[in-house]
Amino acid sequence: MKKKIPVASASLIGNEKKYVMDCLKSTYISSVGEYVEKFEKKFACFCKSKYAISCSNGTVALHLALLAFDVKPEDEIIVPALTYISTVNAITYCGAKPVFVDSEPDTWNIDAELIEQKITSRTKGIIVVHLYGHPVDMDKILKIAKRHSLFVIEDAAEAHGSKYKNRIVGSIGDIGTFSFFGNKIITTGEGGMIVANSAELANKIRILKGQGMDPNRRYWFSVIGYNYRMTNIQAAIGLAQLEKINYHLRKRRQVANWYYKYLRDFSEYISLPVEKKLVRHVYWMFNISLKKNVTLERDSLIELLYKKGIETRPIFYPAHIMPPYKEKDLYLPVAEKISKRSLSLPTHANLSENDIKFICKTLKGTILNKSQ
Ligand SMILES: *Cc1c(COP(=O)(O)O)cnc(C)c1O
Repeated sequence: MKKKIPVASASLIGNEKKYVMDCLKSTYISSVGEYVEKFEKKFACFCKSKYAISCSNGTVALHLALLAFDVKPEDEIIVPALTYISTVNAITYCGAKPVFVDSEPDTWNIDAELIEQKITSRTKGIIVVHLYGHPVDMDKILKIAKRHSLFVIEDAAEAHGSKYKNRIVGSIGDIGTFSFFGNKIITTGEGGMIVANSAELANKIRILKGQGMDPNRRYWFSVIGYNYRMTNIQAAIGLAQLEKINYHLRKRRQVANWYYKYLRDFSEYISLPVEKKLVRHVYWMFNISLKKNVTLERDSLIELLYKKGIETRPIFYPAHIMPPYKEKDLYLPVAEKISKRSLSLPTHANLSENDIKFICKTLKGTILNKSQ
């Protein structure tokens, strides 16, 4: 049987093996070890942030970021409905209430114009998500945050290296969070990172991720913390990945360019991602939306492509339609429409131009065949 083209795949072409062997030889396989520090330093430098704190995954990175701002029950946090569920769950872990905002039709990111009408006396902060690698319009967000004295957390789990007006995302708001899950732009298997410029926030996060232990007094716990640490082995993989991040970013852009090349003439049926002026999209996933004249359901298309050896994935469901977060009478038309009619095509560093040609040809054939 022909091999399937996976929708995502890690690319371990650098020093990953060497550094991991190093951990094994030295026996530093837990969360103490030189790679943790090296990875944090290099990541801070990459983001042009003062501090970077590693943690076990991108979800707890968000939890720690919210805890750093003392988010408590009764607080409200503004969040886009169209995101991976972690962004929303982290708010719930603090007992706070996620307040959902609809998306922009072009970038699919939180629509800044709709934020202010959702702000109440209980609103404490805004989490923005640089969805699928396209940066949020941060100037608009920062202006609103300033006007209402709100914090801004950037969920950059899908956007390592993405740029907004020449600034690396994650370093623009108060805190930025990243994920290194296996399908992200760079990976540590499971892992996360928090970046910040405030020493106070960074210290607080370090204490919270290590069970709340006083940094100056061993085994003295002055606050209730968590074990959210990253291991030296994860950091070793992360450091090797980060050394090659420009390669990973270049590859993804190449893949995106091939998709544009082979799909541009199909605009009658599908719409392609946009890249706004003054930003760098990192194309974590290359997404397409089915236009009105495609009668085929999105899920049927996914199934048909799968049978032809191409794995794709549906766009996230907006959080406000899922059981734990279902809100009566909340209708967010843009997010709902995007989610229903869009899918992610295979996007990773291991794809060749021939793979993309095959994917595009199969995609077009399948849509045309079913739309007549
Ligand atoms: C992947 C992802 C996360 C969570 O990361 P994990 O490392 O899987 O916990 C958070 N937010 C967004 C937008 C993501 O895509």
